[in-house]
Amino acid sequence: MRPTGKLHLGNYMGALANWVRLQDQYDCYFFIADWHALTSDYADPSQITPNTRDVLLDYLAAGLDPARSVLFLQSKVLQHAELNLLLGMITPLGWLERVPTYKEQQENLTGKDLSNYGFLGYPLLMASDILIYQPQFVPVGHDQTAHVELTREVARRFNQFYKLNGRDVLPEPQVLLTPSPKLPGTDGRKMSKSYGNTIQITDPETVVRQKLKTMVTDPARVRRTDKGDPDKCPVGDLHKVFSTPETLAKVYDGCRSAGIGCIECKSWAADGLVQVLNPIQERRAGFKESELVEILEDGSNRARQRAEQTMQEVRTAMQMTLTSPAGRE
Ligand code: ADP
Repeated sequence: MRPTGKLHLGNYMGALANWVRLQDQYDCYFFIADWHALTSDYADPSQITPNTRDVLLDYLAAGLDPARSVLFLQSKVLQHAELNLLLGMITPLGWLERVPTYKEQQENLTGKDLSNYGFLGYPLLMASDILIYQPQFVPVGHDQTAHVELTREVARRFNQFYKLNGRDVLPEPQVLLTPSPKLPGTDGRKMSKSYGNTIQITDPETVVRQKLKTMVTDPARVRRTDKGDPDKCPVGDLHKVFSTPETLAKVYDGCRSAGIGCIECKSWAADGLVQVLNPIQERRAGFKESELVEILEDGSNRARQRAEQTMQEVRTAMQMTLTSPAGRE
């Protein structure tokens, strides 16, 4: 996750909740991508550090466990930058220009000039973030599969050029597709920090209820007496993710027959959201500032050791062996 603000329910349902479950089955690395935040927030980096603290708190509150997984800060593991530089030598520009999010984001984020080198190189930095841990899997939703595909292509090209004692150094990771329902925001578009339409993990109940009150609904249902369709309504989408089957059945019945109004329907949706958020918010309140720094430092040290192991193989395979690896951080 990029530390560009507090995490929202879309981040939680689309990514974080899955990660929490993966900890039972895999050795996991989860990081906060502060360099990635700079690709769009380079002109004013003042919020990156406070946001890093918030994202870490959100991770911990959701249930990521520093005793079981490695939780770290990208900029504390310089090996990511070294691998990024080396992979940059073998990556054709066209591969980066054709990543679908490149044009999409440039068009969507009209307030920021994204014609910089860092933004174009973003997917390659992401590939480096992944490959440096020589992982088997990358847990992502559908929207991220193009990035993993690029990662695999870069690894393949690296392995064609360089070998270590005849074997590949960077295994091609596989996508571990996690269920990632696209959660709508209060304006009906995809919930996103950049659109200002989010419900945050930290929003208190009153704020959640207030935000839901203003949320857009099925446009065909203008008056209370009009019949609606939960499948065409962003609030209906929230119900599908957060409500019990019983509530969902009442929503379908009530909306399609105009038996309930949108206000009542929204208050049921808010009930479901609050139920998910309450335990997370309670856990979040239990962490102390000093603990946060310690957790990130410890995790970053562990990540660095693992990353350095890969880099020694990479440097040897690329015959960059004149510098002594022992002298490196
Ligand atoms: P944002 O658009 O708010 O900046 P990011 O692009 O940083 O969010 O997304 C971080 C992670 O959260 C990604 O894995 C993404 O798939 C997931 N995610 C973000 N928004 C949503 C959403 N509305 N619904 C489902 N998953 C989402």
